[in-house]
Amino acid sequence: MNEETESTARRRIIRNSARCKRCGSEIESRYTWEYVTCACGAISIDGGHEYCRQVGYLDLLEDTSITKP
Ligand SMILES: [Zn+2]
Repeated sequence: MNEETESTARRRIIRNSARCKRCGSEIESRYTWEYVTCACGAISIDGGHEYCRQVGYLDLLEDTSITKP
């Protein structure tokens, strides 16, 4: 049911966050193993500033993270 992707791009992650288009809540992963899910459960992110991992209904996920090359 859930599709899963993993970004391995070597960019510096300044902020690892996303907004859910279904419930409108914004979630942020601040630590490497901090796994956060939005209020309605459609999307989750994890990885903190080490890596960006996005799980769930990615078409509902608006990426609001900030990265630098
Ligand atoms: Zn949601």
